[in-house]
Amino acid sequence: MNPTDQEKFRPVIQLRLDAIAADLSAAQESTKPISPDVAIGRLSRLDSMQMQQMALAGKRRLEDEHARLHEAMRRIDTGNYGRCFLCGGDIATERLEFQPDAVSCVACLNRRP
Ligand SMILES: [Zn+2]
Repeated sequence: MNPTDQEKFRPVIQLRLDAIAADLSAAQESTKPISPDVAIGRLSRLDSMQMQQMALAGKRRLEDEHARLHEAMRRIDTGNYGRCFLCGGDIATERLEFQPDAVSCVACLNRRP
């Protein structure tokens, strides 16, 4: 992929990074430890712990995506964005628009076990 095309993805990635940063700061509240003496019934405490587990899992997913997007940004810096790390071929633009942090082309993705 030529550098001009690579640069087109910089704002796409930045937008996604901003959205994740906002989601993560919103998640801050729901992933706080739940105090054992919280003045709610036993069942609702279990409920809030379950909610917290879900919030934590979601937070981890966001953090993973954030890291991958940062890597993608770095690949634009080095001119390697949009190149499949397995076959070295170009990753389809449509795929990158859908998933800007993609590191392999669809053919290689399907070849993997
Ligand atoms: Zn490939």
